[in-house]
Amino acid sequence: MRIGQGYDVHRLSEGRKLILSGIEIPFEKGLLGHSDADVLTHALCDALLGAAALGDIGVHFPDTDMRYKGISSILLLKEVKSLLDERGYKIENIDCTVIAQRPKLSPYILKMREKLSDVLSLDLDRISIKATTQEKLGFAGREEGIAALAVCILC
Ligand code: MG
Repeated sequence: MRIGQGYDVHRLSEGRKLILSGIEIPFEKGLLGHSDADVLTHALCDALLGAAALGDIGVHFPDTDMRYKGISSILLLKEVKSLLDERGYKIENIDCTVIAQRPKLSPYILKMREKLSDVLSLDLDRISIKATTQEKLGFAGREEGIAALAVCILC
């Protein structure tokens, strides 16, 4: 059994879509990045890669590579899943936290979990996504960015 953890931050910017766990969330701003900047999926990719000691998302999908410009991060997660499959790892469970002052994410959490369940071929009860504000403190509290944390167990 192996544990992995991931952390990511992206800046909020006008004129961008807000994509979390592959789901478009209605909001006046979105996350800035080379890919679709899906901060939750990035943290999860890093947790999965970390558990397998396979480096991190920047090693596998460098932001200098034009192939990844504007790419759906769900495709990157699929690639990470393939790397785990090739090595015979199975995901036991995943637990993620999104840190965002706004928007309120509770109406979208089930959809976000269902998306990961679909992409990872993993039962919904093995996938947890939680959201918290930051009490208006720090960059997330000031709505300058959104952070995400993820942990996983592989077996
Ligand atoms: Mg990222």
